[in-house]
Amino acid sequence: MRLLVVEDDPDLNRQLVTALTDAGYVVDTAKDGEEGHYLGETEPYDAVILDLGLPVLDGVSVLEKWRRNDKKMPVLILTARDRWSDKVQGFDAGADDYVAKPFHMEEVLARVRALLRRSAGHASSEIACGPLLLDTKSARVTVDGNAIKLTSLEFRLLAYLMHHKGKVVSRTELVEHLYDQDFDRDSNTIEVFVGRLRKKLGVDVLRTIRGMGYCVSEPDDAA
Ligand code: CA
Repeated sequence: MRLLVVEDDPDLNRQLVTALTDAGYVVDTAKDGEEGHYLGETEPYDAVILDLGLPVLDGVSVLEKWRRNDKKMPVLILTARDRWSDKVQGFDAGADDYVAKPFHMEEVLARVRALLRRSAGHASSEIACGPLLLDTKSARVTVDGNAIKLTSLEFRLLAYLMHHKGKVVSRTELVEHLYDQDFDRDSNTIEVFVGRLRKKLGVDVLRTIRGMGYCVSEPDDAA
C-alpha cells in the first residue's frame, strides 16, 4: 500500500513518515499544497494524509481540486484542535475522515487501516482467503493459524493483493503501489517476489494470470 503525507511541519512530517513506514507502508511526502496536489494528481496512492493548514495552496483547495478531477483515493485530513469549521469544510471538500492535532500516532495508524480496508470493501480488520489470514491491525499473516514470516516487501505485496482479493492486479499496478516515487522500479522483480511469497505461504491462493497479472483467490476445493 502506497501513501502520501502532505504536512508542512517538518517534525510532524518526519514522525508520520517513520510511523507509517514502520507499519509496512510505502510513503511519499510533500511539504506544501502545490507539491502535494501534483503528487496526488499524478501518482496512484491508496490513501492520503493531508494537513489543512499548508503553504502555497491550502489543504481544502488541494482536496477540492483532486475531487473535481475525479481522484477518488481515501483522504484523512489533519485539522487544528477545536476548529469544527475546518472539519466541516474538509468533509464538504471530499475528506473521508479526520484527526485533530495534537494526535496520538496510533490513532492515525488505525484510521489509515480503516480507510484502506473500507475503500477495498472489507468491513473487518482481518482479511481471509481460505486458510490464509491477514490481520491488518497487527500486520500478521497466518496460514491455518501458523504465523508466516515475511520480508517487508513480501508483506506489502501480499497485503495489496489481499485488499484486492478476487481481482486481477497487473504487474504495473503492483509496482506503482509497492515502491515510492524515488525507487528504481523494475516490474520483472515482481515475478521473483511472487514466487518466494507463494513458496512461503505453501497454499494455492496466489495465482499468476498469464499476460494479465496476479490474483489472490480462494484455493480450489481438493474434493
Ligand atoms: Ca500545517
